[in-house]
Amino acid sequence: MPEKMKAFAMLRIGEAGWIEKDVPECGPNDAICTPLALAICTSDVHTVYEGAIGDRHNMVLGHECCAEVVKVGSEVKDFKPGDRVLVPAITPDWNSLEAQAGFGQHSGGLLSGWKFSNCKDGVFSEYFHVNDADGNLALLPPGMDPVDATIMSDMVPTGVHGVELADVTFGDTVLVIGIGPVGLMSVAAAALHGASRLIAVGTRPVCVAAAKAYGATDFISYKDGPIEDQVMKMTNGKGVDKVVIAGGDVHTFGTAVKCVKPGGKIGSVNYLGSGDIVDIPRVEWGVGMGNKQINGGLMPGGRLRMEKLSSLVTYGRLDLHREVTHLYEGWEHLPEALQIMKDKPADLIKPVVRIKK
Ligand code: NDP
Ligand code: ZN
Repeated sequence: MPEKMKAFAMLRIGEAGWIEKDVPECGPNDAICTPLALAICTSDVHTVYEGAIGDRHNMVLGHECCAEVVKVGSEVKDFKPGDRVLVPAITPDWNSLEAQAGFGQHSGGLLSGWKFSNCKDGVFSEYFHVNDADGNLALLPPGMDPVDATIMSDMVPTGVHGVELADVTFGDTVLVIGIGPVGLMSVAAAALHGASRLIAVGTRPVCVAAAKAYGATDFISYKDGPIEDQVMKMTNGKGVDKVVIAGGDVHTFGTAVKCVKPGGKIGSVNYLGSGDIVDIPRVEWGVGMGNKQINGGLMPGGRLRMEKLSSLVTYGRLDLHREVTHLYEGWEHLPEALQIMKDKPADLIKPVVRIKK
């Protein structure tokens, strides 16, 4: 392996660009991987352009990829150089107390299981480091295209987590606020989890069409007036059983509280890039006694989740390919792919850059 590598990094708030960095070291439990395909996330946009996690200098961007293992540490048992792997966006330290408590995504502190492009360099470089390789990597399932496999890093496990947090059960009427690539996976997951009526909120035509294919039954545009008014009209004033939030802003929690029935649950996986305070409407929250649960979470990462969720794809229950609307060939297109994720044109769901076939 060379000593130096090229990397696409956050230079400062508002600016990303190419830099040269040292190739990362491999500890005994770690792996060093090289990307086969990279996906841009809305979170990369929040990080660079909104400074949502603070000012970072020369931090390599990216947490979504499919990769090939190039080196493993002496203690790694299940992976070897040459293996093609799924790489979760969240890579907990599995022997931490937080992981033992069931929250590996917060191993080492709040959000600290989210290491790539947060606690350490991300994956948009010729080589990147994976901690706890046996606990975090998963083999690329036979037949899965590395381009589609990038959707497994974050979109699938996060979309599914929204449904887990909202505790969707058979027959629920479910509202999914936001049908970008994350919310679309929440729609698919809610349908798999037994939702009956599935109301999707979003406007990009390509996303509305995809939501329909993934199982949405009703559609709302937040541009046509308050979401809560539209939901109440559709449900004869009753509201919905569960809400998944995968878009919007700090005010969307208030909307969700207004839409959900007493005893209902709200699961949010939205990354709030700006705003200081999340408002909860007092009256619609039952003046504090409405039994309306609000849960916000970072998706749990790790190998078992990757293996289980990718088997949904293998056995034909989940289509990843529909998420990839923009495919670029080669490293040099990464800046363009980040820019298009920032611009969100009407035909965009997810941009992916293929590095190697
Ligand atoms: P997109 O920006 O692609 O999609 C956002 C969706 O929300 C779109 O459908 C958009 O509609 C809709 N929307 C925008 N504004 C509003 C509004 N005011 N009210 C209601 N809906 C609105 O985002 P992604 O799908 O890529 O990601 C969703 C969120 O999840 C992001 O904040 C991302 O950072 C976060 N995330 C969280 C993770 C976690 O582990 N918790 C991991 C990965 C991502 P339109 O059709 O008009 O664009
Ligand atoms: Zn992501």
